Amino acid sequence: MKIEDSVKLDFCDVLIRPKRSVLASRSEVSLEREFTFLWSKQKWKGIPIMTSNMDTIGTLSMVSKWTTFWMIGCFHKFFQPNEILEFLHEHPHAVSNSCLSIGMRDGDMQYGREVLQQCPDLKMILIDVANGYSEKFTDYIKEARQSWPNHIIMAGNVVTAEMTEALLLAGADVVKIGIGSGSVCTTRKVAGVGYPQLSAIMECADAAHGMGGHIIADGGCVSPGDVAKAFGAGSDFVMLGGMLAGHDECEGEVIEERDGKKMLFYGMSSETAMRTHYGHVASHRAPEGKAVYVPYKGSVDKTIQEILGGVRSCCTYTGARTLKSLPKCTTFIRVNRQLNTIFGDSQ
Ligand code: 5GP
Repeated sequence: MKIEDSVKLDFCDVLIRPKRSVLASRSEVSLEREFTFLWSKQKWKGIPIMTSNMDTIGTLSMVSKWTTFWMIGCFHKFFQPNEILEFLHEHPHAVSNSCLSIGMRDGDMQYGREVLQQCPDLKMILIDVANGYSEKFTDYIKEARQSWPNHIIMAGNVVTAEMTEALLLAGADVVKIGIGSGSVCTTRKVAGVGYPQLSAIMECADAAHGMGGHIIADGGCVSPGDVAKAFGAGSDFVMLGGMLAGHDECEGEVIEERDGKKMLFYGMSSETAMRTHYGHVASHRAPEGKAVYVPYKGSVDKTIQEILGGVRSCCTYTGARTLKSLPKCTTFIRVNRQLNTIFGDSQ
């Protein structure tokens, strides 16, 4: 047994220090980035914020809306190949900004092959498992890279530098970072495993960038300021789940409760998800996610505007003219108080 004594930080442990800047307005800030990926050598240009591929978030309506802002929409894993095909046919703007998701269950690789064969312009694939540390996963990434030499392969989740490097070496272009930080994730409670997200991003970004790879910060953002912190810490992409829950584009039922309208949002390892997709919870597993009712928020447009406005504001405060230059302009300060909550902390 060992203890690592150095302090690891979360978004709530820091703020970003403002700096003198020549930027006169938020409109001078560009949030667009252009990447060339490590193995596929594909290029992608856009605003690098992604929808999570969770059932209630990676819906067709969400992907359609999200990709009109030139951000990446990840389909959840439960669409039939022909549903994706039809969607891309009807929404040509989505083709270069959407991402197929697969896991590591029997038939998933075959499903991926089928969809990508039918949709040759769909270039991004996310290979997503809760625990990216198994040797089997690394081998799976190698197989995927052989199958799709020219596709942008994103893979995760891990939270440490050495495993980020291992997945990049196995053939991933982009590694997804985050264990235990999600809003409906209970891994830290159930398994006692996790890593504070800000430190995970900083350490994994450093490892990935040293090899020409990229990372996605996945989980733990609860406000636009957290998205800005994830980019400031060096993440190339940020993936959002909970911040997008409760919108029309989630396609869920809106229920009326005593304290207002609500929508269901659940973790992909929750009992709700397992019962929805597999009919039961396997006997050797304990759920590592929960189901919650979140306030109904209407269209996601306003939330998108708040997120983009928040990140632009951060760039203005720090003097970063482009999102790419934000990490260079970022100095985090450790704090023991984030917000003045005298009138509540909802806004
Ligand atoms: P959020 O943005 O809601 O904080 O985090 C979203 C991320 O949480 C997802 O993209 C996914 O990586 C993770 N996640 C989703 N469902 C579950 C779950 O049931 N259990 C765990 N451990 N993580 C989950």
